[in-house]
Amino acid sequence: MFDSSKYNEIAKVAKDYKATIVAVTKTKPVSDILEVYHLGIKEFGENKVQELCNKYEQLPKDIHWHLIGHLQSNKVKYIAPFVSLIHSIDSYKLLEIVNKEAAKHNRIIKVLLQVHIATEEEKFGFDSEELISFLNEGKFRNLSYISIRGLMGMATFTEDKEVVRNEFTTLKFLFNNIKNTYFKEDKSFEILSMGMSGDYEMALSAGSNMLRIGSILFGKR
Ligand SMILES: *Cc1c(COP(=O)(O)O)cnc(C)c1O
Repeated sequence: MFDSSKYNEIAKVAKDYKATIVAVTKTKPVSDILEVYHLGIKEFGENKVQELCNKYEQLPKDIHWHLIGHLQSNKVKYIAPFVSLIHSIDSYKLLEIVNKEAAKHNRIIKVLLQVHIATEEEKFGFDSEELISFLNEGKFRNLSYISIRGLMGMATFTEDKEVVRNEFTTLKFLFNNIKNTYFKEDKSFEILSMGMSGDYEMALSAGSNMLRIGSILFGKR
């Protein structure tokens, strides 16, 4: 079950950093989410499109749904009508598809660009050089139905705190760099989504302002 005292404890720390908590509800039933919703929590994250859509349909419509997991192009259409923030844009092609689907619903979809900061091979996301060259090209500026709000990253799953700290610091540096270079006139590039149950304190001290927290709130999956 949801640990609300743990939530309050994290929320207190997050507040000092002006950070938002996204409660990651993957694998948790709708009834649990509804209880959490009744505590006044409205930011929820899911990593699978199908599960996200099922929950969206059954739950109150003022919930802000975050897609935090890998997004396949052919599934964008299912979330385009309602998703609040997509954290996992990892190619220009995907960005174009999100733009196209958003246009069909006449809405602007907020997105984050996912950056590959971990050493593990299987993690998704842009490499930093790839990201810079994509931004340099500037084509993204023609996509009028998406709004790029910032970056997302996941650290290596390790006990080694120095590795994690380095990865978060690298992402924060990249974030500042991109913000000052490509989004100077655009105050809406402001979200740095990094930090999960095991590393959120480290993430905050490295400059995160959005945490994605699951297991320490809801228990092991
Ligand atoms: C599951 C998940 C989280 C939350 O992880 P916990 O360790 O349970 O807090 C955060 N981000 C992504 C992308 C996830 O898939």
